[in-house]
Amino acid sequence: MRRYVKAAFAAFLGGLMFMTGCGSTGGNDVSEKTSGESAVTSAKTDTAPPETSVTPAVTSFKSPEEYGKVIALTFDDGPDAVSTNMILDVFEENNARASFFLIGDNIDYSTEETVKREAELGFEVNSHSRTHSYMDKMTAEEIKAEMDYTDEKIKALTGVTPRFFRPPYIAVNDTMFEAIDKPFINGLGCNDWDKSVSAETIAEKVLAQAEDGAIILLHDGGSNFRTAEAIKTIVPELQKQGYELVTVSELFHAKGIEPQEDGILYSRAEQTSMY
Ligand SMILES: [Zn+2]
Repeated sequence: MRRYVKAAFAAFLGGLMFMTGCGSTGGNDVSEKTSGESAVTSAKTDTAPPETSVTPAVTSFKSPEEYGKVIALTFDDGPDAVSTNMILDVFEENNARASFFLIGDNIDYSTEETVKREAELGFEVNSHSRTHSYMDKMTAEEIKAEMDYTDEKIKALTGVTPRFFRPPYIAVNDTMFEAIDKPFINGLGCNDWDKSVSAETIAEKVLAQAEDGAIILLHDGGSNFRTAEAIKTIVPELQKQGYELVTVSELFHAKGIEPQEDGILYSRAEQTSMY
């Protein structure tokens, strides 16, 4: 809780200029960043040293036959110091877990604590590129630079290199599959990034698409309070229906599947074709 308050405070100091959406990365205004940084430096003086290692809440999985119905909720375009923490609170209260796919350029002084909290609670922290651009228009070198930047940012905060990748706009080509050594994750979505889609509709659509082995695609980035609100319904309702809410890694583990790195955009663990 204390970390949440601190992260929210940092976001407040930094201003809403850093909030981003699916189509933008934001946070590039140098004067905004500079004024925010000095405020957060003082706010951080009472925190533990940065070398403190992160101990995930979940370090090992059950054997596959011990699982019932499993589903992986995933969130894109964060971290966001406010909406991401609202979502983490709901999962924490319900003893459930999910996965986040982060935009590297959204990881800054105002969101670092949020990324650490994700890892400490046993959530999976994955890559959604650095700049959220159409990577199918990039060279292999440009693609690798996007991936390396975000991998390093996340590893520095969580101690773990991201295992999975979600392509921005789900735009892919052969060059991307060749350049990126991670499984590509898609998901069953409901356009929750669109501000005209209400929390009620998000909850209805997610629950309607729920199935054993599915990956659900949602968005925590861009101050998505509608999705944060919908999660308050979705998480307990799925649990009532007998689902275990797991990370993407745990979903594949529960199904006894080793995810491939080429040619598949996974929306279900058991998927064997591109779509
Ligand atoms: Zn996105």
